[in-house]
Amino acid sequence: TETLHIVGGGMAGSEAAWQAANLGLRVVIHEMRPKVETFAHKTGKLGEMVCSNSFRSDDHEQNAVGLLHWEMKAAGGLVISTAYDHRLPAGGALAVDREAFSEQITAALNAHPNIEVSYEEVTELPDQGQWIIATGPLTSEGLGGAIARATGKESLAFFDAIAPILYADSIDMSKAWMQSRYDKGETEEEQRAYLNCPMDKTTYEAFIDALIAADKTEFHEGETAGYFDGCLPIEVMAERGRETLRHGPMKPVGLTNPHQPDVKPWAVVQLRRDNALGTLYNIVGFQTKMKYGAQKEVLRMIPGLEEARFARLGGIHRNTFLNSPTLLDVQMRLKSQPNIRFAGQITGVEGYVESAAMGLLAGRMAAAEILGQPLATVPQDSAHGALVHHITGGAEAKTFQPMNVNFGLFRPLDDSAGIKGGRRGRRERYKAYTDRAKYAWQGWLSDQAGAPAAAAE
Ligand code: FAD
Repeated sequence: TETLHIVGGGMAGSEAAWQAANLGLRVVIHEMRPKVETFAHKTGKLGEMVCSNSFRSDDHEQNAVGLLHWEMKAAGGLVISTAYDHRLPAGGALAVDREAFSEQITAALNAHPNIEVSYEEVTELPDQGQWIIATGPLTSEGLGGAIARATGKESLAFFDAIAPILYADSIDMSKAWMQSRYDKGETEEEQRAYLNCPMDKTTYEAFIDALIAADKTEFHEGETAGYFDGCLPIEVMAERGRETLRHGPMKPVGLTNPHQPDVKPWAVVQLRRDNALGTLYNIVGFQTKMKYGAQKEVLRMIPGLEEARFARLGGIHRNTFLNSPTLLDVQMRLKSQPNIRFAGQITGVEGYVESAAMGLLAGRMAAAEILGQPLATVPQDSAHGALVHHITGGAEAKTFQPMNVNFGLFRPLDDSAGIKGGRRGRRERYKAYTDRAKYAWQGWLSDQAGAPAAAAE
């Protein structure tokens, strides 16, 4: 059979190689390190964790990333099983001994009879053969240029500028209201895309003080970003002048507050729907380098967001990623060149676990295609499915930014399945999501002939 080539032996590439090789394919991993270095990687090992040593929550009943762990384990995942082998005590989180982890990933891949590792940089998008590109947030310049030429410059980003995203059901609608500025938008759907939170002068002034005083994260050494005027962090805007935000993302024009029609707000924070399901909203223009704790505190000063729960907090990082909703099909293939799949952080997911999960899917999809075995669509109710459906279609293409796995990506629970959404407590809801996900994921795994579906506890 045909060989599968994988570019990048990080979280996604390592997992993709493992899955495809276990399904019987011959795999070549092309990894540029140690010959070509990045500012963040320190070794030439495969599966290197570049920063924190945490795979985050391991709770597979109450947390979406814990659920992803569970699903990866059920699918015989190399990354997750190696993480468990080198687990460090960290309460409910899955913390990992990074040295032992990458050592064992490297050894396992090198020892696999179907896998060969070739240490070289790939600088072109191959027009023949079956490929998975999993070169991550720090994709080398040469390959980044080749991808930009193939996809169009505006479809490949080199920095993320993430505004915080919150759960729609945690917004207080007795203070916020739905309206697009100047009631723009052809359809009712478009007009319903925005929520607004009003601020009076006192609240605004206190908010600016809090932004200026908040703890901020520095860029990593070597990561230096010339800020572009289009994506200045809000705290930098606040430092430039106390009125800057009121004339920028918080301008109060073209909006009428139905709760207080006679009072003109001093400033307005706008939220935009972030997914087709309408379960997530992002705060428009609010990219930030505030530390996570500070972000929550400062953003909950916004009227209507006092009880906000965040699906992901904001950030700005060096990060190469595609506009996947427009470029990739549900099988993660480049629509314009379907012999190439993408996997990992470059597809617009965020984090070690999410990246490995997208590698797991890409490896299995490529294997099914090459071996001529039809593969059912990844069930949207699983954590893997929720993520891949989000990046390849559910997310708004125009404002696409990298995403962590979270319950806001899941189809809301419906009554016909015997599970009630609104009335139950959050714990029960999350348990229902994870039960539904596990059932769907196991069904999908057992459909795949020859797949090593090891049972997870
Ligand atoms: P990577 O793991 O980066 O793997 C990509 C691989 O491709 C690398 O080995 C690279 O050397 C190789 N490569 C690149 N270009 C080429 C080429 N042209 N030819 C051949 N090989 C190539 N995530 C977290 O969950 N927690 C964190 O604390 C965290 N901190 C981060 C800090 C920094 C500074 C950065 C940049 C990222 C951080 N991330 C963090 C995100 C993290 O990088 C990803 O979650 C994860 O490593 C992505 O997996 P990946 O397989 O997509 O990319």
